[in-house]
Amino acid sequence: MSEGPNLGSLLAEHWYLARKLRSLEIHFAPERCKGLWQCYEVCPVGCWTPDYDVRCVVFHHGERCIACGACVLQCPERAIELR
Ligand code: SF4
Ligand code: SF4
Repeated sequence: MSEGPNLGSLLAEHWYLARKLRSLEIHFAPERCKGLWQCYEVCPVGCWTPDYDVRCVVFHHGERCIACGACVLQCPERAIELR
């Protein structure tokens, strides 16, 4: 019978993924934004703020971003990328 992954290999995988995620950055194309606010609603750390006057979001507090990808998945206009 084969053994499952041990603690050492799980930790190694965790650190590999954590390093990879930390290197990702948000790239936002404001010209694509239609001001639908999904990114603002799903971001768990408050990186997005609606600007209701111009109907476009503002990306700020980039240092808070945990690269969860929620805003990328939720934006119907593909205005946000993580890379
Ligand atoms: S989800 Fe997309 S279209 Fe909606 S406010 Fe955010 S960036 Fe703009
Ligand atoms: S990737 Fe996650 S944490 Fe980063 S801005 Fe988008 S929703 Fe917020």
